Amino acid sequence: MRFERSAPATLAEWEAVWAKTSLPAGMWLDGEWNAALDGSVATLVTPRDGSDLTVVPAGRAEDVDRAVAGARRAFEAGTWSRLPPRERGDVLLRWADLMEEHREELALLIALEMGKPAATAWAVEVRTSIGLVRWYGELADKLMDESPRGRPDSVAIVSREPLGVVAAITPWNFPMTLSCFKVPAALVAGNSVVLKPASQTPLSMLRVAELGSRAGLPDGVFQVVTGSGPVIGDALARHRGVDTLSFTGSPAVGARLLRAAGESNLKPVALELGGKSPNLIFEDVDDLDAAMDTAAWAIAFNSGQMCTAGSRLLVHASLHDEVVAGVTERLAAVRAGDPLDPSTEFGPLATRRHREDVAAEIRRGRESGARLVLGSEEIPGGPGFHLPPAVFTGVSPGDRLAQHEIFGPVLSVLSFHDEDEAIVIANHSDYGLGASVWTGSLRRAHQVSRRIVAGTVWVNCFEEGDASVPFGGRKLSGHGADKSVHGLDKFTALKTTWMAL
Ligand code: NAP
Repeated sequence: MRFERSAPATLAEWEAVWAKTSLPAGMWLDGEWNAALDGSVATLVTPRDGSDLTVVPAGRAEDVDRAVAGARRAFEAGTWSRLPPRERGDVLLRWADLMEEHREELALLIALEMGKPAATAWAVEVRTSIGLVRWYGELADKLMDESPRGRPDSVAIVSREPLGVVAAITPWNFPMTLSCFKVPAALVAGNSVVLKPASQTPLSMLRVAELGSRAGLPDGVFQVVTGSGPVIGDALARHRGVDTLSFTGSPAVGARLLRAAGESNLKPVALELGGKSPNLIFEDVDDLDAAMDTAAWAIAFNSGQMCTAGSRLLVHASLHDEVVAGVTERLAAVRAGDPLDPSTEFGPLATRRHREDVAAEIRRGRESGARLVLGSEEIPGGPGFHLPPAVFTGVSPGDRLAQHEIFGPVLSVLSFHDEDEAIVIANHSDYGLGASVWTGSLRRAHQVSRRIVAGTVWVNCFEEGDASVPFGGRKLSGHGADKSVHGLDKFTALKTTWMAL
């Protein structure tokens, strides 16, 4: 069953979706809504206009105990973990259909909780998330164990088994997609999952969890526990009933989680962390307009709140001035506005505090001597946590502007004179998440992508991919992979069974 339709086309249509939407108000535990055990709540503020949106439970360690105990019970019961894989896959396919049916509502929740334009959430984030659930649903019965040909007097079977209870901790910038990088993969392998979404953005995944139960996930198999990172996240990382932890967020929190796992049950911790992705435009680029369009998009999309944001633009010296002018012109023209208005291309930043942090980085950059050719650290008036894009030139590779992940719409332009210098600058970073190379030369495309230390290199494009390819980082950007068949590795254990004949 597929539902082909188009997104709401006007602000009034999105407001009508909102009028019909009830905001999730509990944690999703054991197939039903739950308050925190001590009744505490936290208020969510929408970046759309800074108003209070709703309250959700502010869980504590005892809520984590309850969520993990329910997930463990469900795992041991075998109603999911020992189901034939095809049947697990069918539940995921039904879940994807239900998400499609609720696509407007899910996009609206994302727009309200984190400020992404609802039209973008509909066309990109929710679509991608549905695609991931469907992809893993289809994969369910297509995985094979191994039987290596060892000795003639024996049979060896190498099988993949679910680990048990998986914890997932996710950030606010793509609250649904980044959760769906993990949850369907962990579930299709037979695990139970406890998700802790970012405090700012629990609503969309709470609704997705409720839809999962409607699709047929047994109670307790997918739990969503809300509350603050230092409380809930830390309790999950230390919990002896959690078998593995998959995290997406900042390197600082990733380091804490590794310590917490080391101080508890040594659970494996998979880390998807930050980035400072270089976007390299060579003098032999085929389509400079496309490169400039994409360079502007790579820092403006999601208001720059992207782990893969193309925040370092490396341009061959012969093209520097033309590219700075072209990209600046494009960024100056992005339409900022109300996230519910379909004509809005550029939404507010996710929180008031985050906007202040990004503005402080612009001020620091200006004071460092780099040239601010677009934007300002001045906070604009009006509703919403808006901050227009900023572009700096005259940035050196070691400058804070080229090293620090700002996680906002701030572009640093650097120039290079030859391929070797470009690669040295590109790799001069603690991060290694994404990179992009613009060239008309096949030799250069291959050679440069091989030499760049990054989990993904895009050639003559940016941020492309689908569920079939892994996504992960190197260095401070983390390790391991989400998505694709490789995304299952961290949620399964290899078992060898050796049989004497
Ligand atoms: P963050 O502060 O690390 O938070 C991420 C998650 O960790 C949130 O759920 C947060 O909960 C939780 N958390 C915070 N402090 C914690 C603690 N002491 N113990 C356990 N959990 C804790 O990151 P963010 O500001 O939300 O997101 C921005 C970062 O994520 C950037 O570095 C960005 O590059 C990275 N990111 C990486 C990827 C990727 O795939 N590689 C994708 C997107 C974002 P609260 O919300 O309650 O604080």
